[in-house]
Amino acid sequence: MKILLSNDDGYQAPGIVALYEALKDLADVEVVAPEHNNSAKSNALTLHSPLYVHRAANGFRYVNGTPADCVHIALTGLLGYRPDLVVSGINNGANMGDDTIYSGTVGAAMEGYLFGVPAIAFSQTEKGWAHLDDAAATARQLVAQLLPTLACADGPDTARDGAHWLLNVNIPNLPRHALRGFKVARLGRRHAAEAVITQQSPRGDTMYWIGSAGAAREDGEGTDFHATAQGYATITPLQVDLTDHAVLPYWAPTASRLTQTLQGLA
Ligand code: MN
Repeated sequence: MKILLSNDDGYQAPGIVALYEALKDLADVEVVAPEHNNSAKSNALTLHSPLYVHRAANGFRYVNGTPADCVHIALTGLLGYRPDLVVSGINNGANMGDDTIYSGTVGAAMEGYLFGVPAIAFSQTEKGWAHLDDAAATARQLVAQLLPTLACADGPDTARDGAHWLLNVNIPNLPRHALRGFKVARLGRRHAAEAVITQQSPRGDTMYWIGSAGAAREDGEGTDFHATAQGYATITPLQVDLTDHAVLPYWAPTASRLTQTLQGLA
């Protein structure tokens, strides 16, 4: 089995090093990861400047681009083969609730998923890498259980038989013996972020710093916020279709009225 490993914190981040060490005897693991921290880059691709790939002394390849760039170029030519699984992380901090929209960790995994490769994004719920090796062991446990199920999967056409999936996994910063288990959880919701922070630059310009994420707004039973707070690692299956299917009929009359007005102009 072959695993493509990436992240958003950069190829030198402790999280990807620990995850590589934990996975390397389960499969052939190749690392293609951003050169620098690309947290909150979501699914961004670099279209207006060239990407360069270099290989570090430890064999990891690094790219002057985003997490999605790394997975994209790996899958479209750099690797020269199709991996069985794309893994991203372990991220320095939670990717729960609305964070997943912004997350470069999830973005890297989602890029694999969009190419029809099953993918998992791993994050520790607290920043600072406490109990990182325990989190890597937990990630390894999940990957080891899923790898055999991928042996017969062969591409996007397997989407509906369960072999094609995108998982968002958040792991509490706990020693393994204190982790209570795994729970399947839905994404919670966050309040709008804190206010932007302004400062004066040495040359008198106003600088703006994006404020920190808001507190949890929907963190009840069944959410990732709730389960991780109870000491569980959470598994959230994600989908990519942003269509709000339930309100398609609500918007149909608007389209009709606009069409009638347009026809009245003819
Ligand atoms: Mn990050």
